[in-house]
Amino acid sequence: MKFEKNCYEIRLESIGGLGANLAGKILGETGALYMGLNSSNFASYGSEKRGSPVKSFVRFAEKGHEIRINSPIEKPDILILFHERLAGKAQVMAGADEKTSIIVNSSESNEFLRDRLKIYAGTLYKVDALALAAKNKTRVNMVMLGAAAKASGFIPLDKLCEAVTDTLGKKYPLSVEGNINGIKAGYDNAIPYEIKPDGKYPYIEYEELKQDWGYDNAPIGGINPIFGSTVTNDLTASREGYIPIFNKELCINCGLCSSTCPDMVYQFKEGEYKGKISMVNLGPDYTHCKGCLRCVEVCPTKAITEGNEREYDISKTDIKNISLITDNFKLEDTGQNSWVESVSNTVNSLE
Ligand code: SF4
Ligand code: SF4
Repeated sequence: MKFEKNCYEIRLESIGGLGANLAGKILGETGALYMGLNSSNFASYGSEKRGSPVKSFVRFAEKGHEIRINSPIEKPDILILFHERLAGKAQVMAGADEKTSIIVNSSESNEFLRDRLKIYAGTLYKVDALALAAKNKTRVNMVMLGAAAKASGFIPLDKLCEAVTDTLGKKYPLSVEGNINGIKAGYDNAIPYEIKPDGKYPYIEYEELKQDWGYDNAPIGGINPIFGSTVTNDLTASREGYIPIFNKELCINCGLCSSTCPDMVYQFKEGEYKGKISMVNLGPDYTHCKGCLRCVEVCPTKAITEGNEREYDISKTDIKNISLITDNFKLEDTGQNSWVESVSNTVNSLE
């Protein structure tokens, strides 16, 4: 294997829960243990919870070329986006140019994705990893691994399958068949689509993102300046593709969904239920929902069921706290976990 430069570099951009960290580890192991290459892998993420941003970095080098660099990958040969909604000001597309293979988990068209992600240039491999994972009884990350093998042009499918069988087979032997099928599906469905640098979107330089507040300047000894669930915070990039579907007819307003939901998605308002004044469930505000489906599990009347996000146009739901957004808000579209800068806002009513 001859690489054009010292290291062949892969950057995985994802959110917690989709398995990008594991996918990066498996890619690194495939190179070192099954292909006779030198390889390295590390990941960067915040709290280990579903929905937080995750980056994983993999480097390969031929034997004889040591990997001495251990910093984030600025100009990836392959860029893997686990969720199309990672698009935004956050630099998920940084460093991608005409030499980059860009793999995106999406059911949208190539043209739509180019505009959504503002792709300067590259070879786009769109894979509907969610649908393929569901069909093959595996996870999104396995499908993305198969697509990565195809896009690389040098990672043999059989070596990747061997690595996955050995790594996951010991602990989860029953998952192996589905995982291998998922990898093969990703490989077969990754079709290249060339994007030339035609000036439609600019090249984005990689820059280290600095936190506004860190350990040395955060007030009161350290707080998280990025809010979890707020009026404007958009957590939709946190979802793995599933959403809760609310059926008002079956709801008895017990409030269990609300007390279980980690992101306070359910909106209650004083109203009438069975002839009495009580708090009535209006339904979910999907802006904050990360699709964990805990509410589905706890609802005693099956008023909440699991749905495939892509089959619902949730942008049309009117259960939004949109009326609480004032001119004082300055929205930051940072892609995943966007946040808002604002004056303090006291919520008294949903009206
Ligand atoms: S848990 Fe089910 S029944 Fe109870 S308030 Fe929520 S949706 Fe309604
Ligand atoms: S799936 Fe249910 S519990 Fe999970 S974030 Fe969404 S509304 Fe809350």
